[in-house]
Amino acid sequence: MADTLGSKVSAISHHESGAASKIVNTSAVTECLPVGVLVLGNTASNVVEALFINGFARDIFDLKSQAQLPCPLDSIWTASDSHILVGQILEVFRSGAKANFEWNMRSGAIERFLASQLIPLMDHEGNVHQVVCTVEDQTAEKLAERNLLHHAFHDALTGQPNRVLFRNKLEQAVSESTRDGVSMGCAVLIINIDRFQQINESFGHSAGDRFLISMASTLRRCIRGSDTLARLSGDEFAILVSRFNDLEEVEMICSRIHDAMQQPYDLDGNEVFTSVSVGVATTIDSNTHPEDLIRDADFAMHRAKSAGKARSEIFHSESHQRARSQFHLETELRRAVERKGLMLYYQPIVDLKTQKIRSFEALTRWIHKDRGFVSPVEFIPLAEETGIIVNLGRWAMDAACEQVRAWIDTVGPEKTVPINVNVSGIQFARDDVASMVQEGLEKYNIDGRYIRVELTETSIMANPTRISESLQKIRKLGVKVALDDFGTGYSSLNYLHQFPIDIIKIDRSFINQLEYDNQPYKILKMIGILAQNLGHDVVAEGLEDLEHIEMLRSMGFEYAQGYYYSKPVEASKASEYVAGNIPW
Ligand code: C2E
Ligand code: MG
Ligand code: MG
Repeated sequence: MADTLGSKVSAISHHESGAASKIVNTSAVTECLPVGVLVLGNTASNVVEALFINGFARDIFDLKSQAQLPCPLDSIWTASDSHILVGQILEVFRSGAKANFEWNMRSGAIERFLASQLIPLMDHEGNVHQVVCTVEDQTAEKLAERNLLHHAFHDALTGQPNRVLFRNKLEQAVSESTRDGVSMGCAVLIINIDRFQQINESFGHSAGDRFLISMASTLRRCIRGSDTLARLSGDEFAILVSRFNDLEEVEMICSRIHDAMQQPYDLDGNEVFTSVSVGVATTIDSNTHPEDLIRDADFAMHRAKSAGKARSEIFHSESHQRARSQFHLETELRRAVERKGLMLYYQPIVDLKTQKIRSFEALTRWIHKDRGFVSPVEFIPLAEETGIIVNLGRWAMDAACEQVRAWIDTVGPEKTVPINVNVSGIQFARDDVASMVQEGLEKYNIDGRYIRVELTETSIMANPTRISESLQKIRKLGVKVALDDFGTGYSSLNYLHQFPIDIIKIDRSFINQLEYDNQPYKILKMIGILAQNLGHDVVAEGLEDLEHIEMLRSMGFEYAQGYYYSKPVEASKASEYVAGNIPW
């Protein structure tokens, strides 16, 4: 065998001392190298022959013995692409230049990844008469690399694609759908498990993990083979519907998902029912940028959650715009409340007999730095929805009490008139309104008669018992209670005698319709009589013209509030009114 290398090669090993030298049997060394070595010849008919194959290469080629050497290379290596290697070798015979290349070889079930170097051996005339082929087995490294690659793109728990791979596939799908014209859409579904935290806490984290794995396979069954399911984070999955013609197809997937959730999961013998909230964004009604699609679907999913969970929401760009500007407004309103960026305006409530100011209604004003004046009709409902109303209401009460204190100090307690402060139903639900009022009175050391609380009957209806209790405490402080916007609700008369109230404020919409002897006129007259019998004061709101004032006067009403007398004015102007400095 060593002869095939040309000669029995000997080498001199030089020691530092130069004294000792030994003969090394290089063929034995080659035989035990952890690298495959083949020596190849080329027959006259251009057939590549194996002349020598070391132990390592024999293992790779799965050759038990080498008795048949020399033999054609393609008789040892029978893979269909063996001609590529043979071609490379022939090229080295022809050119005399070294070559490196990587190749794969399948033997049985094993696929090997190999790296080879082809080194030409020259005869004394400079012709290539043999080629040495080294074979390095890189299978382990390649598999590790593949594994790593798999982990980089897949979720370890469920084995599904992760966010990175999802994003890549989405990008591809979006570019295909836009390339193919508008009739084809692609959709992103974000699926969030509604009560996953509860499952984790009740059954432990490893049960939670098993639940997620089974959730992944449930979701897989709801989609087509061409769609992608990914796990984005803890309890959140995403589906890419790469192509659809009609939004109905996407809606079908959503219903399949919700239907599948009807089946209980078996967690260690416990039946667990769950639901998911799904947000959908499509290239048809959203942006076509992958990140935007994910964001929009996520946004829709949160809407599905806040609409009561266990449902799907499809993103529509205009509702998104609205919600987004709502969100900005919310942040700014919160800031305005914290940094005292709001103001109280005061609208006089006038005694119809004496024409004197009997009290003021405090109305909150927000002057936004870019948008200018923002109407309370816009920001009060927002404050109620977001809970900001609690702090806003506390601020308003404090500011009104502070104003009363300032008037008492400047014009004296006699001339000082009460301020009506609007209190929302949400404040009653989330805050202790009676304590809030008490704190304001104590902080500025003012009598309860200088503050009045206005609340609407709609807010009473939300929680009559709690509000009634709270109102009783408020009245004990000497603070009167006004029922605001009377006539806009539907069970008004009931509240007139049931609730601890002192004043009824008839809504502007009612006053607007007044004509001599028409239906509202008659109803109002009745309300006037009823209120009188119950001992309530009545204030008519929204009076804009003299004619209506005359009607009210003729019916015996005592108090009115409206633009006819004055719009809500700044504190400084209200103070002038109180001091009697400006007539009005
Ligand atoms: P409201 O309590 O019924 O207040 C009366 C509203 O009618 C005020 O609107 C006032 O400016 C308006 N108004 C008064 N007279 C006339 C008139 O002759 N014609 C017309 N067209 N309008 C008149 P504003 O200030 O826009 O407030 C709207 C609502 O916002 C208030 O209705 C009240 O429910 C709420 N609000 C305002 N400030 C606060 C607050 O500090 N807290 C709470 N909870 N709600 C507030
Ligand atoms: Mg009011
Ligand atoms: Mg009102």
